[in-house]
Amino acid sequence: MMGDVFTQYWYPIITAFHQGKSALPAHLGISADDYYQITELVGLVPIATHDLPQYAALQLRHELIGMRDDELSELTELLTEHLDHHQPYAQQMATVLANASMGSQHLWRDLGMPERPRLSQLFHDYFPTLHALNHHNMRWKRFLYKQLCESGGDYVCRSPSCETCTSYEECFGEER
Ligand code: SF4
Repeated sequence: MMGDVFTQYWYPIITAFHQGKSALPAHLGISADDYYQITELVGLVPIATHDLPQYAALQLRHELIGMRDDELSELTELLTEHLDHHQPYAQQMATVLANASMGSQHLWRDLGMPERPRLSQLFHDYFPTLHALNHHNMRWKRFLYKQLCESGGDYVCRSPSCETCTSYEECFGEER
């Protein structure tokens, strides 16, 4: 199973979630059935939400994400547009990633990836056109919000060009 999307992505996402090390809400933001199914598929034991170490934080996260419902829908829509539907649990991955994007750290951390290159690889496999669009290697979360911004939202850019923008480091700096 080495090298497949379950080992590469789903396993670390779920492991980090179980350890309270990601910004994902209950059941990773997908349905309870899907969470149980995928968790068993990768060889892990599903954990009931109230038994997770971050239970209290999860309740708070649920409320916070609830207040940003439109943003979550826009992110999910954007990711779905670029999704390779041939990948296993493709729509669920779009939903998980949209939820992780609502966190406050770098996306690879909020998703629970072991390091940033793994997240870039995930984009390559699940969202190939987004991966290709980010040829300037912007920070992933900023990149997603910039896409929303360009399609009429008002999330990121306060400057007409990246070269003159005071947020340059926030968008293109190294994601450590
Ligand atoms: S550097 Fe400034 S203009 Fe460029 S994407 Fe970031 S916020 Fe937008």
